[in-house]
Amino acid sequence: MRVEAIEPHGFCSGVTMAVKKAEQALAAQDEVYCLHDLVHNETVVGKMRVRGLRFVEDLAEIPDGKTVLFSAHGIGPAVRQAALARGMTVVDATCAFVARVHRQVRTYAERGLPVVVVGHAKHVEVAGVVAEAQDAGAQVAVVAEACEVATLPFPVGCAVGVVCQTTLSGDVVQEVLAALRVRHPGFETTPSADVCTATRDRQEAVRAFVAGGGDGVLVLGSASSSNTRRLAEIASAAGAKVWCAVDEKDLENLHFPGIARLGVTSGASTPEEVFARVLAELEK
Ligand code: SF4
Repeated sequence: MRVEAIEPHGFCSGVTMAVKKAEQALAAQDEVYCLHDLVHNETVVGKMRVRGLRFVEDLAEIPDGKTVLFSAHGIGPAVRQAALARGMTVVDATCAFVARVHRQVRTYAERGLPVVVVGHAKHVEVAGVVAEAQDAGAQVAVVAEACEVATLPFPVGCAVGVVCQTTLSGDVVQEVLAALRVRHPGFETTPSADVCTATRDRQEAVRAFVAGGGDGVLVLGSASSSNTRRLAEIASAAGAKVWCAVDEKDLENLHFPGIARLGVTSGASTPEEVFARVLAELEK
């Protein structure tokens, strides 16, 4: 079996920036709290916990006046205002791609457009975008798949503004946009439809690897990572056999019978050293 690294891998720009901000906050303060996982990777979160970062799921768990770090996935305006009102020092590690979606939502709201968020309603990033739309006074609804467009609570044919979770499958986004074209022909969206560059590049590389004859794909990353899960789905839909692992320890339980070319890819929050250790272990 030949093992090949599928490029690109390693941290995306948003994860690199979030980790750097966390390190800077820890260097400046003893007590730093991170609201939600800094990024969706258990190796990164585990390392940060060891270094002293305290993870909470609710602002109420943080004492007044402490430092709070907002994760790469972003938060709604009310959370920021509540933190400031309680005298907290805010360190915002929201990824620039996610921040752009928040700005777009406000632009739609100012023009009176209802907002459609394409994404997974329970994902932290989507919750923040929905909160932004509500804060700006817009009506907002979330759809994850094309079949859900029929259930949107807006009058058929009305103009809507569309944004997307940054880590979706580009194919799924296009299917939803096709359904919107029928129900809301005047809808507006951004040219990139908001799927970020890091997510898109990795998805295209996996498709190209399978199209080029790769018959197996190992996806590295945590189950909580949206862009990691999309890579596995895309590789499988392209016709490859797919395995998932967090790090090299998971390889003990994985076997690749009959695979001639195994490609290794990773979610955008999987550390480069994990990628290197998995490749080295596979080579053995
Ligand atoms: S995957 Fe994309 S949106 Fe998420 S942190 Fe990385 S660059 Fe930002």
